[in-house]
Amino acid sequence: MFFTSIQKAGSRFFFYFCRMDETEKVVLLLGSNIEPRKQYLEEALSLLEKKLGKASVVSNIYESEPWGFEATTSFYNRVVVFKTGKLPETVLNICLQTEELLGRERSEAEGYTSRTIDVDILYFGNRIINSERLMVPHPRLASRRFALLPVAEVMPELLHPILNKNQGELLLECPDQSEVSIVN
Ligand code: ADP
Ligand code: MG
Repeated sequence: MFFTSIQKAGSRFFFYFCRMDETEKVVLLLGSNIEPRKQYLEEALSLLEKKLGKASVVSNIYESEPWGFEATTSFYNRVVVFKTGKLPETVLNICLQTEELLGRERSEAEGYTSRTIDVDILYFGNRIINSERLMVPHPRLASRRFALLPVAEVMPELLHPILNKNQGELLLECPDQSEVSIVN
């Protein structure tokens, strides 16, 4: 009896130990350029936490000029990191649902448009994904200062699995010199 319960506890421990190993760090970038921007970022975070558990790290909020299109309101961006055992496609669906719940409208127009909230997957552990719906690491990450700055703040040593450089190095080499500043 005693040994059976030890055995059971042991196998349960082993099970959780293996599960622990299966979690990966998912780095998400939240962005908004429709007021109330800060509130959209906060609501997105709490919706994501309902599905993915508590975020392990949250960056400052950064403000930047709209990138690649004309808009009157600047962008607020923030990076949030989760540890999850979920599949990348599942996390992408959670990101898209979060955008939908916060009233994101997608226009037919090509390129960038104003948005209540944008949730992008920057990194998924050290995976490289090139499917029709999902590209990871995010293909435009290394050319966008507004994305690199918050990642470099929370995970400066994180290696880009294709470019083999960490976030600090990517930031130093980034050709984008547009102004990005922390919002207090
Ligand atoms: P953007 O973020 O470039 O402005 P959208 O938010 O409109 O574009 O996303 C369009 C599509 O991009 C999504 O429906 C999704 O399938 C795809 N996508 C590809 N890679 C990623 C990624 N790493 N993170 C989020 N969406 C991605
Ligand atoms: Mg997006």
